[in-house]
Amino acid sequence: MLVANACRVLGARGLAEDILGHISLRTGRDRMLVRCRGPREEGLFVTRPADVREVDLDGSPVDDLGDWAVPQELPIHAEILRARPDVDAVVHCHPPSVLLAGLEGVPLRPVFGAYNIPAARMAHDGVPVYPRSVLVRRPELGREVAAALGTASVLVLRGHGIATVGSGPHAVEQAVGRALALDVLARVSVESARLGGRAAELPSEDVAELPDLGGSFNDVMLFRHHLARLRTEGLLLEG
Ligand SMILES: [Zn+2]
Repeated sequence: MLVANACRVLGARGLAEDILGHISLRTGRDRMLVRCRGPREEGLFVTRPADVREVDLDGSPVDDLGDWAVPQELPIHAEILRARPDVDAVVHCHPPSVLLAGLEGVPLRPVFGAYNIPAARMAHDGVPVYPRSVLVRRPELGREVAAALGTASVLVLRGHGIATVGSGPHAVEQAVGRALALDVLARVSVESARLGGRAAELPSEDVAELPDLGGSFNDVMLFRHHLARLRTEGLLLEG
């Protein structure tokens, strides 16, 4: 239910415009729940609980998948989870803003602050880029993606999309929050470039006044807000 609603958030907020994108949640050292494709696939924004299935990191199902298939890009999830024991959830989706920024070489600069602190800190820390625009459908490509991510929490896949990760009891909420923050950063950067790109970078003394407000604020509360938006749109899975 959590992963399904998280997929719905990505879809409803435009980070996964149609049927492309998925979220995984680690259930063991070599296992994960992952958003699969079923016979009634209609897109991320209407992900059903039955679309979220448990598989091992090689894609073999724990239970019979029936008419469902694991995502082509399962290696993004599997190889990040393999390479990063600290990671419990992975988001992969294709936000148009991040795509445009990457294609046009628009830098994700730290030009705003308290407007969105997680996004501002992301810009300040820098966002790594995986330079290939390929479909990550083989383990060796997944390992390249995991290597490009390194120890970071977000990654731009140039000409493709993003991968973000989360850890701990609210890993899904954290990974989704990071995807939303990266989308904000890219949208502001693209619009700013369109307006002439004159925005100055924050002075370091102002960056120092942008504290990490913590997971309960950045992740849990933000996720609850997005569930409330789904509810008003008639898209929330309840129960
Ligand atoms: Zn993709």
